[in-house]
Amino acid sequence: MRYFISFLSLIFLFSFSVKKEKKAKASNRKQPKLVVGIVVDQMRYDYLARFESKYSDNGFKKLMRDGFHCDAHYFSYMPTFTGPGHASVFSGTTPEIHGIIANDWYDKELKREIYCAEDSTVLCVGADSKKERRSPKNMLVTSLGDQIKMASSYRAKSIGISIKDRSAIFPAGKMADGAFWFKGGDEGKFITSTYYMEKLPKWVSDFNTLKKVDEYLSQSWETLLPIAEYTESNPDMNAYELGLEDGESDPVFPYDLNSLKDKLGYSLIKTVPFGDDLLVDFAKAAIEGEELGQDSVMDWLTVSFSSPDYIGHKFGPRSIEIEDTYLRLDLNIADLINYLDEKVGKGEYVIFLTADHGAAQVPQELMDNGVEVGYYNPKEILANVNAALKSEFGADNLIESFSNFQFFLNREVMKKNGLEMNAVCKTIVAASVKQPSVKSGMIRRDLERNQYTDRVEQTVQKGWNTKRSGDVALIMEPGWISNYYAHGGTTHGSPWTYDTHVPLLFYGFGIESGYTNKKTSVEDIVPTVAAIIGVQPPMGCTGVAIDDVLK
Ligand code: ZN
Ligand code: ZN
Ligand code: ZN
Repeated sequence: MRYFISFLSLIFLFSFSVKKEKKAKASNRKQPKLVVGIVVDQMRYDYLARFESKYSDNGFKKLMRDGFHCDAHYFSYMPTFTGPGHASVFSGTTPEIHGIIANDWYDKELKREIYCAEDSTVLCVGADSKKERRSPKNMLVTSLGDQIKMASSYRAKSIGISIKDRSAIFPAGKMADGAFWFKGGDEGKFITSTYYMEKLPKWVSDFNTLKKVDEYLSQSWETLLPIAEYTESNPDMNAYELGLEDGESDPVFPYDLNSLKDKLGYSLIKTVPFGDDLLVDFAKAAIEGEELGQDSVMDWLTVSFSSPDYIGHKFGPRSIEIEDTYLRLDLNIADLINYLDEKVGKGEYVIFLTADHGAAQVPQELMDNGVEVGYYNPKEILANVNAALKSEFGADNLIESFSNFQFFLNREVMKKNGLEMNAVCKTIVAASVKQPSVKSGMIRRDLERNQYTDRVEQTVQKGWNTKRSGDVALIMEPGWISNYYAHGGTTHGSPWTYDTHVPLLFYGFGIESGYTNKKTSVEDIVPTVAAIIGVQPPMGCTGVAIDDVLK
């Protein structure tokens, strides 16, 4: 009987491979002229459905209708922050492998916090800044952009743009021709670093000279539609929003940007939807200036919209401000698609669109509606843990850093006191879970020895890099966020659905209209695109191509 079954499965496998081969032969080996990776920073999954009736026909709805829509798409790790999000989307793996474990993290060798895209060996280009020394150095793997470069013997162009530096740098990759990001304050222009070039390209300095940012900030931010039509959101005036000036005045429309600009400088553009307009203008300038998709060699462009994240932090996911941001972003997406149709040609480019994480509902709003969540105080968690360590082991200063939900232990203090690592870690977990906000903790020994399959524990493991991460990792209860946001607004970082369930859309070259509600994961995006365009997936990729998209 057993042999018979194996025989059957052999026949099955054989017929399956014959079918596959036929398909491969039939497929056209031509490549698109341009691959465009779009990230919307902090775009929750529900923004597609919640605002759908108000979206235009040619933006998000076009991508959903004419493209392929993955409905159950998730981040597979925590912490869900911007640096790890962008590194993961574009490398096809998670912080465990690519090493971007947070936006800022405690560096055990340097004994200080480092920024994910910092690089002291390079200089800022385009502004007089000692701070903006940025490169992808800390990312340990290639991005899809690098694979496209290599597949073309380095003839392909690779450009990344965003308001945030890390959101331009990690997507573009190690071999990028340029990554450009926005410098606020009193500069108001796009800059780069000597990692890429010694001097801004002419198209970038020309763009900066136009000072479009001044135009955008000379208007006031009013709702796109009459405000009474924003029935998908809370009333404009409510207790859950911080406002553009963090509580200085009521968080209501219209926002007079001209006068706010005097106080906040050019950084104001980041926190209003016109930051997205500016980025689309800059994307067009990049396509023209770098001649992206203008010849037979396939190029790579990444565009990451940061303003939705800044606005989401300040106003929360149920604000009219966030709804208006997405209705306007929808028009930006339509504008970009239209431009690509004209410049590169319909069907000659492929787009994928996703987010780098979602966002939590404002806890106070949930509490007011009967959901028992809350705000945790990181200082209180640390103080309780320190007290427990003191009483258990009689030692002070055992913890070097408590950051990104992780404790970093001081090896010297442990050695001096003759303490055993696992015992210290277990005491930390036991003290932490006494807080109502802390669900559980995982310790270094277990993360190194075990392979977790439980969804939540696995998210910790996939986000945990043995060299860079801490010795104890906490998982907070669903719905809880830091008390930094206790006065309004929200944040992200957890492994829960509101932070991990995000849109994933494919559109253009090689993509047929379709839909799946099978679960897909962040690691699966670039292997899917790699299969469509016929290049090798990035070196650390741990995902698999999404079959349904390739059909
Ligand atoms: Zn982000
Ligand atoms: Zn409001
Ligand atoms: Zn954020």
